[in-house]
Amino acid sequence: MTSTASWANSAVLTERARVTIPGGVNSNIRLAAPPVFFERGRGARLLDVDGNDYVDYLLGQGPNFLGHATEAVTEAVTAAVGRGMVYGAQSPLEVEAAERIVAALGWAEMVRLSMTGTEAVQAALRLARAATGRHRFVRFEGHYHGWLDNVLVAAGGGAPGSLGQLASHLTDSVLVPWNDADALADALNAHGDTIAAVIMEPVMINTGSMEPVDGYLARVRQLCDEHGIVLIFDEVISGFRIAPGGAAQRYGVAPDLATYGKAMAGGWPVAALAGRAELMSRFGTGEVNHSGTFNGSVMAAAAVIATLDILAADPPYERISEHGAALKAGLVDLGERHGVPLRTQGLPMAFHASFGSPEPVTDYRSLQRLDLASYSEFAAMLARYGVWVARRGIWYVSAAHGERELTDTLERVDRALSDPAVRSA
Ligand code: PMP
Repeated sequence: MTSTASWANSAVLTERARVTIPGGVNSNIRLAAPPVFFERGRGARLLDVDGNDYVDYLLGQGPNFLGHATEAVTEAVTAAVGRGMVYGAQSPLEVEAAERIVAALGWAEMVRLSMTGTEAVQAALRLARAATGRHRFVRFEGHYHGWLDNVLVAAGGGAPGSLGQLASHLTDSVLVPWNDADALADALNAHGDTIAAVIMEPVMINTGSMEPVDGYLARVRQLCDEHGIVLIFDEVISGFRIAPGGAAQRYGVAPDLATYGKAMAGGWPVAALAGRAELMSRFGTGEVNHSGTFNGSVMAAAAVIATLDILAADPPYERISEHGAALKAGLVDLGERHGVPLRTQGLPMAFHASFGSPEPVTDYRSLQRLDLASYSEFAAMLARYGVWVARRGIWYVSAAHGERELTDTLERVDRALSDPAVRSA
């Protein structure tokens, strides 16, 4: 693509969609995205209904970790569909999927599948409440745990995220700044005997792609043990992406429960709650309810098996890290050449880009010092130049991103940075 994209067909569809679909989208996060309709995805590329191609760094908000339409996953799911999709009973594939997940994670003993990360989080919180007989939980500024009433927040966590939300549900949680073990210790000293769980993204990819500071997770683990609190890692983004065993493997600290999704199934909608048998077995006795008509469907199980087989047989982690590192450096370099303070930080497979000082940010509050608004405009503009990326700054890299994508991306970003709109941003 040499000129900027024209979205004539997308515009017609957008207008049509808005008549029958509120906002023209089926998930509110998409309201902020450029109104583009896609025809197909293959590998690291997207093709829209006007014939424009994009290098994709959104990956459907993360699930397409292997790239779009990975053949082995498509074949496994297609074969599963042909066997009938859901039985209201077990299939052998579920057992295989659970065994694969447990084996890959290393620390967990049992697993339950659900459809979405949101549901897996709710199952984890319920289980923690049941196990401890306590009702509250600790959550952290800037962390995302789904769209339901007890976890959806705005302004980093200080306010409800939606009209119609029962804000009273947020009083069941205590909000604490992340990456600050003393702040957590203080909160637990004040409220510990009412706290069932501490839930966090162990690497805060949703907000600034921030890693835990040295020793933080170990101290969190210790504090949870001292207070008899269930530690939940929400690894819906980081799971299977930053390492086969997720944050527990990368940082050497195991939670009691953890939620997974996205990278686990090559794009198929499925999530998991994994954990220690002592906790998880309470679902099995029926004491704690976790249900869902479509949980563990044959397609979901087949997609998990096919994806985890690929991740084990041909681990893409090094390749993805190299691509991400080269892309991060290339973006910073382009920013310098254009006199624009383009900065990047975080793990190369899911890093954060913004405008602002190159100093690393380590929590939600310091992130607010960056020029997130101007960057968001720039990210939206990148779509016109053939780079599909989230406005909130995350760049996801997949196993399908290669040299050509890197070259194309940097060339397209270079042209976008020459756009007069960037100067006036
Ligand atoms: N937890 C985290 C850390 C997430 O990033 C997300 C979604 N991005 C969720 C939970 C919710 O997952 P889902 O959108 O599948 O409900």
